Amino acid sequence: MSFDVVIAGGSVAGLFCAREVAKNGYRVLVIEEDFEIGSPEHCGGLVSASGLEELGIVPSAKTLDNHIHSAQLSSPGGTKITLDARKQKIIVVNRREFDKQIAHQAQKNGAEIRVKTSLKDINGASAITSAGTFDAKIIVDARGANSLVQKDRTGALQSAQYEVYADWIEKGLVEVNFDALRYPGFFSWIIPAGNGIGKVGVAGRSINAMQALEKFLEQKGSYSTIRKVFAPIWVKGPVDEFVSGNTVIVGDAAGQSKPTTAGGIYSCGIGGVLAGRAISKFLEIGKSSELDKYQKFWTAKFGKEFEKQLYARKMLERFDNRTVDRIFSSVTPQMLSDISENESFDFHTTALVKLLGVRGSIKVAQTIFGSEIRRLLG
Ligand SMILES: Cc1cc2nc3c(=O)[nH]c(=O)nc-3n(C[C@H](O)[C@H](O)[C@H](O)COP(=O)(O)OP(=O)(O)OC[C@H]3O[C@@H](n4cnc5c(N)ncnc54)[C@H](O)[C@@H]3O)c2cc1C
Repeated sequence: MSFDVVIAGGSVAGLFCAREVAKNGYRVLVIEEDFEIGSPEHCGGLVSASGLEELGIVPSAKTLDNHIHSAQLSSPGGTKITLDARKQKIIVVNRREFDKQIAHQAQKNGAEIRVKTSLKDINGASAITSAGTFDAKIIVDARGANSLVQKDRTGALQSAQYEVYADWIEKGLVEVNFDALRYPGFFSWIIPAGNGIGKVGVAGRSINAMQALEKFLEQKGSYSTIRKVFAPIWVKGPVDEFVSGNTVIVGDAAGQSKPTTAGGIYSCGIGGVLAGRAISKFLEIGKSSELDKYQKFWTAKFGKEFEKQLYARKMLERFDNRTVDRIFSSVTPQMLSDISENESFDFHTTALVKLLGVRGSIKVAQTIFGSEIRRLLG
């Protein structure tokens, strides 16, 4: 059987790509190796409403779990700072439903989706799958972080995330806890789906994520676990080439999630949309320069911000707990209200610079990490 485009991976990046290609009238097949689109869910679901709007999604009642009003950050020594997040309009989506909503959009545009079908190999213009071989002019790799981690382990952190019922989960409040010993290079988090229900996770370099998460949960109090997920998160930024011959890489498979938080619904989703548009144009006029526009446009949008996030990450990986405590104690109410008022959830390095006190009075981080800070500011 032949298609214009075969997409391996039926999650945000692959499905947005399929929606765009099908909208332009081309024959698209999405193959997903799992039994169901959206499952198993491996995401906290935190995303900005503006990001979703740009992706062309109005969350359905089933998709929308929660609205976030505040984010509380805790230092290793127990100092807490709270950011008012109402201006950023951050929501929590249920990825099991969200991915199905995109799949429905793609299907309405004419895309065909098959689950329980996995890509085994690419041979020229043929996608070799568990359900046979499909010929295609373009093959899209949207297989997520796992496919990238197999090529390069250095950019991945191990994460564990449990969906839990617990009285201490507050609807509307995201919690982030830093501790360089327990979660080196990352943090633990609580993302509420409602009162008493949410996702609690940890990630870090070279840690046993399951043990670290269970220790964190024990300290929080009693809880019941209803789902467990263990997955790598990619924090090293985009790969060098998004397009190679007739293969186009999108989403986490192309390293398109944020180097700071590994959030990827928005930036990977946009990767899918831009790839879908470039592929459609390529199919229309046959010039390979049209395909190259995908990487050009994605980099124009996210390149600079991701570079800065990578510098921020380098610093985070070198901070010890004492430094983190000092930074927390230097944060003023004025800085917090400035960040709450002016900063973006998706492009957040200016907020980080403000939190690090570079433009404040103490400048702890600048003394310790001069060159990275200058790059972060640049
Ligand atoms: C614990 C955790 C929490 C997260 N929380 C957030 C958050 O709160 N907000 C946010 O924005 N991002 C979050 N992310 C990141 C976000 O989930 C990803 O960036 C996003 O899902 C990437 O989408 P994708 O389509 O590129 O890849 P994925 O969502 O990973 O999808 C890849 C798909 O490809 C399929 N596949 C794999 N191999 C094959 C094959 N051979 N053939 C066919 N199909 C295949 C997989 O089954 C999967 O469905 C989180 C990630 C993790 C691990």
